[in-house]
Amino acid sequence: MNEMHYQLDLLKAMNQKLTERERMYHVVCDSAVGASLYYSFERNQITTLGQWRDYFTFELHESKDFSLLLDAVDESDSPALRDVLFLEKTGQSTATAECRLKGTKTWLDFRVNVYYGEDGRPVDKVINISNITKFRIQNEELTYLAYYDGLTGLFNRNYFVRLLSEYVRNASEKNCVVSVMMIDLDDFHKINDGQGMVLGDELVQQFGCCLKEICEANDVIGCHLHTDVYLVAIYDPSGNRTMEKLHKEIQRRTHRPFKLSTGQELPVTFSAGVAEYPEAAHSAIELINCAEIMVFKSKAMGKNNIQYFNTLVLEEFLRTAELESKLKEAVFNHSFQMYYQPQYFTESRKLRGMEALIRWRDGNDSMISPSIFIPIAEKNGAIIPIGKWVVEQSVMQYARWRKCYGYPFVMSVNISALQYSSDDFVDSVMDVLRKYEVNPSEIELEITETILIEDFQTVYEKLKLLRNYGIRISLDDFGTGFSSLSYLKRLPIDTLKIDKSFIDTVLTDSATRVITDAIINMVKALGFESIAEGVEDKRQYEYLRTAGCDVIQGYLFGKPLSEDEVETLLASVR
Ligand code: C2E
Ligand code: MG
Ligand code: MG
Repeated sequence: MNEMHYQLDLLKAMNQKLTERERMYHVVCDSAVGASLYYSFERNQITTLGQWRDYFTFELHESKDFSLLLDAVDESDSPALRDVLFLEKTGQSTATAECRLKGTKTWLDFRVNVYYGEDGRPVDKVINISNITKFRIQNEELTYLAYYDGLTGLFNRNYFVRLLSEYVRNASEKNCVVSVMMIDLDDFHKINDGQGMVLGDELVQQFGCCLKEICEANDVIGCHLHTDVYLVAIYDPSGNRTMEKLHKEIQRRTHRPFKLSTGQELPVTFSAGVAEYPEAAHSAIELINCAEIMVFKSKAMGKNNIQYFNTLVLEEFLRTAELESKLKEAVFNHSFQMYYQPQYFTESRKLRGMEALIRWRDGNDSMISPSIFIPIAEKNGAIIPIGKWVVEQSVMQYARWRKCYGYPFVMSVNISALQYSSDDFVDSVMDVLRKYEVNPSEIELEITETILIEDFQTVYEKLKLLRNYGIRISLDDFGTGFSSLSYLKRLPIDTLKIDKSFIDTVLTDSATRVITDAIINMVKALGFESIAEGVEDKRQYEYLRTAGCDVIQGYLFGKPLSEDEVETLLASVR
């Protein structure tokens, strides 16, 4: 009897434990974030749990109802779902499928687990379903960003380079051509700086979208490289798919001004450079670099045009780039030297002055001409420290010679346009004069006409200021630039230097003679002093003397001299 009671109590206790467990499982399943489905193979029965109703409007009861799930997802995802829903057919235990619910933007993840009995037959199947819409959208955005440029919808740099590398690889196997064009909007910085980055971006976007349409219509690839720079590539160009045609099409489509959201209309032109595999380079990056060099050339030739790859241009670019980097080192190491070329009064043949001319001896002890490196220094800004050094060096040297030989003359120093544009130019020159106690009237600054053409008013004010301090101003290389005699009278100058190109042909060309005579007479009438540059020949000298030119500078009377040679000269003058 006791034994029976005991068995009964045990059964009760076990039953109670079971209902507690069942309850626990229900609560856990119902509060889970997703939905679950349990299928018993033995009973051919489906039980749905959790948030089933959040995703589906139907219930599933037995195996054939799985087809309702297949109908509920997007057609393209249904084969993948079928594979996992009937996973037992493969003998696998676990698999997943990501499917979009038909007609919605909701993405569901189906994670299936099949449990097998000892005999290997499937017993239970559990399918956990979760909403992964947020994750999918983020993923799609990331995927988009991996290939496309957010601003223009064109390919981004990385993806474009990948595609271009494939083009080049294929072209090398099939012996064909790949053409790359770089496009750079003209004067974009003026728009960006002047009108603000927001409008700048809008322009980049509009141009990019237009380019995208053209690329898609012509079956070529395009990319937004950075700021206002784009790239286009054509695999195996022929017929209508050539860069020339594409360039024309882009010009045609971007011909009209771009209308910005402010209502403002902006006309835009662009410069383009083209390089082709295998002529220009053998890799995607090198091709892009070559196209960029051609863009530089295109800009240097006046913008709004297209330049095709050319070995000579590439060589010139590489030479300049090498010089540029050497020049930076030279500025750092002070590898410059000043030479001085004497100038003589034509009549008396007495020393009038010296022109300070910079010399650069590079590492191999070869001389690089200032006509080559000064323009580079002007472009990359190195002219500012170089120019400061030249002024200080020449004034200091003059002060020493003046003291040593007691012989006053004029020290002429060449000044570049960029030096004038720095705010402290006048002050810095005056500081140097004070430092070395040099009389301003013994220093002459040489300017070229191009300076005046670029920014007349600013330069004009500075020249007036310098002249008020007593510094002499000389107009160098007259006749090579604008050369308008009419604006001469407005200039605050003391001296005009007639360019060597006139002197070279003054004896052989009657037209040059007429102009040279006119210049000398005009200079005299305006009360300036005239200097003839590059006088090499005695007959040239005789002619200039008769014509009334005041001063002669040239190899005939003296080449540019080193400091030691100048000292010998000054000692002999004394
Ligand atoms: P520039 O100012 O017109 O200087 C005259 C140039 O003609 C000098 O060349 C001089 O050596 C050369 N020259 C003078 N007489 C004769 C001659 O009879 N025959 C020939 N064939 N040449 C003659 P350099 O020294 O090579 O200078 C070239 C240019 O570089 C200068 O032309 C000037 O524009 C620029 N430059 C030179 N030194 C400086 C400098 O310190 N600063 C700046 N900003 N520019 C400089
Ligand atoms: Mg000069
Ligand atoms: Mg000159």
